[in-house]
Amino acid sequence: MNLIIFTDLDGTLLDHHDYNFDAAQPALNELSRRNIPVIINSSKTYAEIKDLRIKMHNNSAFAVENGAAVYYPTQGSGQAEQLKQTILGKPLPFILEQLAELRSRFHFQFQSFADMSNETVAEITGLSVESASLAKQRQASEPLLWQDSADNLEIFKQQLAKNQLQLLQGGRFYHVMGQNDKSLAMAWLLNNYYQTPKQTVIALGDSANDRKMLECADFAAIIRKTDHSYLAIEKDPEAVFNSPDVAPLGWRQAIDFIFNKLGTGDTDE
Ligand SMILES: [Mg+2]
Repeated sequence: MNLIIFTDLDGTLLDHHDYNFDAAQPALNELSRRNIPVIINSSKTYAEIKDLRIKMHNNSAFAVENGAAVYYPTQGSGQAEQLKQTILGKPLPFILEQLAELRSRFHFQFQSFADMSNETVAEITGLSVESASLAKQRQASEPLLWQDSADNLEIFKQQLAKNQLQLLQGGRFYHVMGQNDKSLAMAWLLNNYYQTPKQTVIALGDSANDRKMLECADFAAIIRKTDHSYLAIEKDPEAVFNSPDVAPLGWRQAIDFIFNKLGTGDTDE
């Protein structure tokens, strides 16, 4: 059986607080030994994922900014890896143009990443200034702080929708992006890049922005949240695993479970 793995990062593969993935390492090693692709599918930016991917010795394709763009190696996994980018959502210049126009037409009060210095983003997010600068290097989505009324937020949403843009509520920020999500990036990569026949698609995630990706996969591993709850999804319970522990140990438990359940023993290539 050919397995292919799509995974969220924060709270799924990475520890919610310090972003380590130590406890998942044995599972990552085993997947690499079996040549099973591990495709990062995160809300993080290319700049944020780039170094992490090297640290994980991961040379699979990956998706950034909630499926807004995908990156894939164009010549195998040699040393001189070339990454190609395809934007599945709307490019950032288009988004910023729409935001500027709506701001001037409706006088909406908001502050987006493009309006903020690295220091300000660091202050609001709790990231280091360096990490904030990586989070600011965006391709196809823009976080913003809404500083206007709830009524105006509705108008704002409607105006964005007229331009094929959506507004997603995150923790602290709203995210303006095209009609993309992680499941779209997963489908794109399966249709255009990983076209191996008879693949079993595994998805791992922990929160609402992973839901569609988990529901579209053949098998979903839901990683326990730090408040001990689990994301609820609509799927045959036989095709769902809820990890006993939180990330990163929960990620390893999920992979161990999948190897056992799907019988992908050592006969697998
Ligand atoms: Mg997450």
